[in-house]
Amino acid sequence: YSAKAQPGSALQFTPAMQDEADARETLLHALGTACRNDEFFLEYQPIVSLDSDSPVAFEALLRWQHPTHGRIEPSVFVPLAEQHGMIGEMGRWVLSRACADLLRAPADLRLAINVSARQLAEPGFAEGAAGIVHAHGLDPARLTLELTESVAVSTVAPGSEVEALRRHGFRLVLDDFGTEYAALSHVSSGLFDGIKLSRDFIADCCTADRAWMVLRHVVNLCDDLGLSVVAEGIETDEELECLRAAGVRLVQGYYYDRPRRLSELYPARAAVA
Ligand code: C2E
Ligand code: MG
Ligand code: MG
Ligand code: MG
Repeated sequence: YSAKAQPGSALQFTPAMQDEADARETLLHALGTACRNDEFFLEYQPIVSLDSDSPVAFEALLRWQHPTHGRIEPSVFVPLAEQHGMIGEMGRWVLSRACADLLRAPADLRLAINVSARQLAEPGFAEGAAGIVHAHGLDPARLTLELTESVAVSTVAPGSEVEALRRHGFRLVLDDFGTEYAALSHVSSGLFDGIKLSRDFIADCCTADRAWMVLRHVVNLCDDLGLSVVAEGIETDEELECLRAAGVRLVQGYYYDRPRRLSELYPARAAVA
């Protein structure tokens, strides 16, 4: 904790801090063995077309169920894995698992996978990802990689891993659009095939007229640029109607379905495997 301490100030190391540090240490150790102990699994949530009222893709969401600590949220363990050099291995597990699962899904279905900025910073990431997909006999075009807006400008520069991913044929979308300001430069960069509107952005758009007008123009802009727009985190009729009125055609959220295990989505196929 010395890093946090002000120079010259006395270290206030309270029991609560010790507990927190211990808990973190325990979690970190558990994370280190989670892959080996088969504690990770994927859940899939449909991205639904409002035109056909059926899924066009599923987003894979990583889950960690620990035998004694229970279920741990990705918002907790993904950053932890990033900080401790484990995200590379975790990401490769996710991609392999998703590819194996995709082989059991209908041929016209696409899968979306989350990739964090830290994964992209690893040299050779694109090469490795393409290798995993090809090893499963799949075309990278069936996989959409969701990159968050926090992807720094340097990581999308020419010669970067993002460009290499494109070259390999992956679809790339900008996740959590509307949560940061670098978004429009990413939209016009030509590197992305689409955007996902964050739940926070949508909440604003459905409660304030001015925000809704921004949304409507963002959707038009994406249409003009040939980018797809997915609205995520849709829970209510009101949200759906406000998005529909703004021209959104693809939605994802509890309104349609929660993330589910593959065995729930395709029971018959899962039983064969
Ligand atoms: P994300 O990619 O933006 O994923 C969407 C999150 O919204 C998911 O949370 C999903 O379960 C949740 N969600 C879906 N529908 C609704 C809804 O109607 N209402 C609300 N309130 N939430 C909804 P989750 O599964 O906890 O994942 C959180 C974040 O963790 C993801 O955000 C993603 O950034 C990251 N993550 C998840 N899986 C992976 C992974 O395999 N690799 C990496 N690098 N990150 C991952
Ligand atoms: Mg995502
Ligand atoms: Mg995300
Ligand atoms: Mg998101």
